[in-house]
Amino acid sequence: MKLAYADDVHGTTEIYEGIIEAAAANEADVLVFGGDMLLHTRRRSSISENAEMQKRNLDDIIALFSEANSAYGMETIFIFGNGDMRINEGYAHAAAARAKGVHYLKNNYLVMKDIAFAGYPYVKSILYSVRDWEKTDTPDSPSPEPKDEFMAGWYSVKPEEGTIYDDVTSLLSRAPPNKKLVLIAHSPPYGTNLDLSKIDDGEAPLHIGSKGVRMAIEEYHPFAAFHGHIHESNQLSGSYFDLIGSTIAFNPGWASPHRVNLIFFDTEKGMHSLFGCIDEYGVTHST
Ligand SMILES: [Zn+2]
Repeated sequence: MKLAYADDVHGTTEIYEGIIEAAAANEADVLVFGGDMLLHTRRRSSISENAEMQKRNLDDIIALFSEANSAYGMETIFIFGNGDMRINEGYAHAAAARAKGVHYLKNNYLVMKDIAFAGYPYVKSILYSVRDWEKTDTPDSPSPEPKDEFMAGWYSVKPEEGTIYDDVTSLLSRAPPNKKLVLIAHSPPYGTNLDLSKIDDGEAPLHIGSKGVRMAIEEYHPFAAFHGHIHESNQLSGSYFDLIGSTIAFNPGWASPHRVNLIFFDTEKGMHSLFGCIDEYGVTHST
């Protein structure tokens, strides 16, 4: 099976169109998106206005995925990320279920031929403003602090609701038998090429990924793992992939602001390649 993968498109329909076009030209079977699917929320708008705005954006994107299924037979799998409002989850689930060949995953599996895809959206405490999908990382980590600002109402996961480590190990332990396991988790694993961030210019890059995600991968060694969240890590580390034991893990991110990297992964051959990046003009920049 040939997968086309991108993350953190942040709602630009022209970029989705470019990705679909490139995926079709390269005969991908499945489009996979690792979260932060939708347009950025606006601080000047209310929570309900933002939720409506993201619903409309999601409708447009799901229509594109549905067309890709009709035109090319491509299936689409997506998860939410911390930029996608959690209160729209039910809406996303229903909209995907109504569309042909579109699958929303969260804490569950989708089996396609010999592959079992698992999806997981939560991130550990983050510096960005939306705190909607934050969870305590591991049983030893401090719990995220609620923020007493505009986004306070979005702090919707209570510390007592467990940790990322608990969730991902539980998810991976329930893998369907005799399938190649592919994890799609918005947060990249800690201490890899995939989780480097620069907080300030002039500072050395720091690893800010999830220890819980990494520990779960080390315990259950899925065949492959796809991540996002930290757009710049590939530029800082010089690589869009890394190995954790036998697991190949990816976070292609962005090539530069809002130019989304697209990769291909052949699950039979275990081969992967960076296609290039796609920007808001739908232009593809092959490497
Ligand atoms: Zn993002």
